[in-house]
Amino acid sequence: MDETGGGVGFNCSRKGVHAFRFGLGARMATLVADCPRCGSKSITFDIKDALVYGSEYDWQMLLEMPCICRACHRFTVFFTKQEQYEHRDLFRDPKFLLKGDVNGNDYVRVEGFVSTKDRAAVSPPEHLPPEIAAAFAEGSRCLSVSCPNAAGAMFRTCIDLATRSRLPEGESEGLTSKVRRDLGLRLPWLFAQNILPKDLEALSRCIREDGNDGAHAASLTQEDAEDLIEFTQALLERLYTEPARLKIAEARRDARRQPKA
Ligand SMILES: [Zn+2]
Repeated sequence: MDETGGGVGFNCSRKGVHAFRFGLGARMATLVADCPRCGSKSITFDIKDALVYGSEYDWQMLLEMPCICRACHRFTVFFTKQEQYEHRDLFRDPKFLLKGDVNGNDYVRVEGFVSTKDRAAVSPPEHLPPEIAAAFAEGSRCLSVSCPNAAGAMFRTCIDLATRSRLPEGESEGLTSKVRRDLGLRLPWLFAQNILPKDLEALSRCIREDGNDGAHAASLTQEDAEDLIEFTQALLERLYTEPARLKIAEARRDARRQPKA
């Protein structure tokens, strides 16, 4: 007899005596999935709740479903997705998934489960080139799970990508190949030439202090990585977000001045 309701005949109302099922478990909504807590494959979970947190294509509901594993009796919150378009009326109230005898796998597909990677992370600034946005998002996720060295490497990548193209192509005073290559030397040079906004120079010291070659293995603290995200965010906003917003505002202004048809 398990704790999830096997042999709970004494709870049955008179009318419901036929529902008494010794040893088979009470009628409970279930979902079969792999258990991330105990490692059991294709194990039965009892569904404890179902909450819609978003949708795709105007019909496909995205849900979070806390469930209890029948092997280890621990909770997992699954990310699931409505399986069929035909069920869209049912999903208006996802609590139907809690009703006895529901086989959750008939209605939803398990997409993953809530874990530390789902902790809130800082979003990338708007209007970044895609490769910089991706590096920032990855760094931010690393920071949110306390992996400062991995985070630091991604923020340095953002700064590298954002500043490399701002170096002049030809010879320039003080611009040796080492200064070009090395972030810790490149940034002070760019500030000195007024190529980067001077008021960010103080914030940029986190780069210099980190060392020059990125090979200072595993030496960053969480605070160091937080300094890095702060500078990276400020720099990217100045180089990409603000100019893009100005362009959008100018385009809106021009549109307003178009003679009306
Ligand atoms: Zn389990």
